[in-house]
Amino acid sequence: MQDQPLALVTGANQGIGYEIAKELVGHGHTVLVGSRNIERGETAAREIGPNAHALQLDVTDHASIAAAAQHIARAFGRLDVLVQNAAISNTRRQPGQSVEDYAKTTRPGNVSLDEMRAVWDTNVFGVLAVYQAMLPLLRQSKAARIVNVSSGVGSLTTNSDPAAPWRAIFGPVYPASKTALNALTVAMAIELEPEGIKVNAVSPGFTKTNLNGYAGTDPVEAGAREAVRVALLGTDSPTGTFTRWENETIPW
Ligand code: NAP
Repeated sequence: MQDQPLALVTGANQGIGYEIAKELVGHGHTVLVGSRNIERGETAAREIGPNAHALQLDVTDHASIAAAAQHIARAFGRLDVLVQNAAISNTRRQPGQSVEDYAKTTRPGNVSLDEMRAVWDTNVFGVLAVYQAMLPLLRQSKAARIVNVSSGVGSLTTNSDPAAPWRAIFGPVYPASKTALNALTVAMAIELEPEGIKVNAVSPGFTKTNLNGYAGTDPVEAGAREAVRVALLGTDSPTGTFTRWENETIPW
């Protein structure tokens, strides 16, 4: 057992998750760097420092999730912070194809159901599977919290406004996966409210990462900021929120 808060960040071997892991270590946490490829996780953990430890975790693989939960149970006996960050935007966007052009091939009328399932498998079902596996460990914490890394592109309210800037790319694959993640966030917050476990969603903003072919405009430090802020909130903080930096509410 150890006194430092223990955090698990999924998909932390690169991008925003890596930065969240690094910053949580900077704030005195021991961080498990979730990575589906263990070597890449080990490289990331080594770079971050001695309080970061790689953990093999593929959120679409039940055996991997179960093994990760067993490892945490044996080594630590609890989990204080779960950052559900791992996600994919697509499996089929061609090299050089713009997000807008890919969106035209994934409208409700022509989307491949296999493509939609693949993305939801990671971004929605993967999150729920990790939640279910980690819940017993979170329940052993005195101040557990879950941060779901969502996206403003999943906001139904925003996308219902004809003037919304991202409206043209709202579709069933990635954007609606984040809408579904938002729904899961509210359901989890309702479930865990009586136990005082906080569940909040955050949006990083358009960040320069592999997810968007490095077309994003913000650095990873900006993308990680709200997730880190929410992960560090005290026990009297709200649950069931959806925010971007700094604490600006996004409509569901
Ligand atoms: P990224 O650099 O592509 O990182 C995504 C991470 O998720 C990678 O570590 C990736 O692992 C991991 N991952 C993917 N599938 C996985 C699986 N099945 N199991 C475990 N890990 C898996 O993207 P990012 O931009 O940092 O994205 C982080 C989060 O921010 C995502 O939830 C994304 O939706 C959200 N977000 C990003 C932006 C943006 O502009 N970048 C905007 C809004 C929201 P590999 O390295 O093995 O691929």
